[in-house]
Amino acid sequence: MTIYPDLQLYIAGAWRKSTQTLPVLNPADESVIGRLPVASRADLDDALAAAVEGHRVWSRTAPSRRAEIILKAASLMRERVEDIAYSITLEHGKPIAQARLEVQRGCEFFEWDAAEGLRAYGRVIPSSPDIRYIVLHQPIGTVAAFSPWNFPMSQPARKIAGALGAGCSIILKASEETPAGAIHIARAFHDAGLPPGVLNLVFGVPADISSYLIPQAPIRLVAFTGSTMVGKHLSELAARNVKPVLMELGGHAPVIVCDDVDPVAAAALSVARKARNAGQVCTSPTRFFVHKKLYATFVEAFAERARTIALGNGLDAATQMGPVANHRRIEALDALVSDARDKGARLLAGGVRKEGAGYFFPLTVAADLPDDARAMHEEPFGPLALINPVDSLDDAIEKANALPFGLAAYAFTHSARNAHHLSERIEAGNLSINTLEASVAETPFGGVKESGYGREGGVEGLHHYMTVKSISHRMMI
Ligand code: NAD
Repeated sequence: MTIYPDLQLYIAGAWRKSTQTLPVLNPADESVIGRLPVASRADLDDALAAAVEGHRVWSRTAPSRRAEIILKAASLMRERVEDIAYSITLEHGKPIAQARLEVQRGCEFFEWDAAEGLRAYGRVIPSSPDIRYIVLHQPIGTVAAFSPWNFPMSQPARKIAGALGAGCSIILKASEETPAGAIHIARAFHDAGLPPGVLNLVFGVPADISSYLIPQAPIRLVAFTGSTMVGKHLSELAARNVKPVLMELGGHAPVIVCDDVDPVAAAALSVARKARNAGQVCTSPTRFFVHKKLYATFVEAFAERARTIALGNGLDAATQMGPVANHRRIEALDALVSDARDKGARLLAGGVRKEGAGYFFPLTVAADLPDDARAMHEEPFGPLALINPVDSLDDAIEKANALPFGLAAYAFTHSARNAHHLSERIEAGNLSINTLEASVAETPFGGVKESGYGREGGVEGLHHYMTVKSISHRMMI
């Protein structure tokens, strides 16, 4: 039988409780499903000391042995997919099928980074015969990582996979609202034989933990996924202590629909992707710029499909979209929708929170939004799609690039010329053409402009968790 796990801190290879706890809610009915342990200063000090020892041991463990342990943990998580998916749906709300896919995706991150750790090659630079120049890639040290609530398992997996694959130890503060995904990961690593202190998991008040941990000497990298506002704050804290950062921040993804595609097919794909995770994804397709020739058909097809999306409890197999994860999203969506309506946008689907318990907000479609509508420049981070017409590809690219964000961007076109033009000119870390998948384990993922700094995944992902050492070795003095 699947049950929501007992929430504890994981420090120095052991589970521990806390005297101070916070409630964890089920967003589908607002009931309390668990008590989050809040780490004390003493817990954080213990985690730091454990991570120093963990780094000493792990960085000196052969990469092949490190890969073996990471792969073992990933295979345990695959075996436990039903338990993990159940916990995710309970604390986050997403449909159970999406939670299962999330677990698989998290495992793929571990599997990829375990293998990449084996290929973290340095190089020998050609030189005169009496001296040798060598470049070594070494694990950067202990990582302080902060993962958000939208993907309770795959977001912590990204950070832990990068750190452990590179040979670093990590102190992860996972989300206080969706903590169980990280608990399941720590359990799998514990069972796989990870040495104590390599992975430490803490919870608590985010600002208290980040302001205490980041300045500490053993912390050598700060990795964060979340809002641009918090990312800026943590980057400042890190800069004051001369520490590098890996920042995966907000997005406001444009989708350009060119005049050479089937608008109904493009709308069908778009609605399904917009509904995923109730739109609470930094790469969620949000600003649709549709060529005027196809506009009316696209808008109609999009709105019609959006109205059919079944909203409900994620544990119900018929549910296509669950509740949003917390009350803040309801407030943000209410504000953006009423602002858009007041400024003259056409509301074609959804727009009003479902009455009763739970944070249910339907898939909402707005069209013909003026540039000054707040939703056109503030990330909705929820099930809100915005559709506007454009005159040409140039017009669409200009609008797509107009915001300070640059994480994911999408386009539908069968023209090689359009695709080339988009590849050259779109300001985003990730461009997907004729697919709305923005990141997989084997490709680098990250943003430009205020969407962040650094990449996770791909061959680039591990580099942020490593430092480069140049060695000049003359054979004789
Ligand atoms: P928020 O800005 O309060 O928090 C965002 C995340 O940062 C949370 O996980 C939170 O625990 C963490 N956080 C907040 N203050 C922190 C601090 N001082 N130190 C360390 N961590 C801290 O916003 P929110 O209401 O939780 O989420 C809404 C916004 O966050 C969205 O609009 C979206 O832009 C962003 N977000 C982005 C992602 C992503 O995948 N990039 C994920 C979740 C949230």
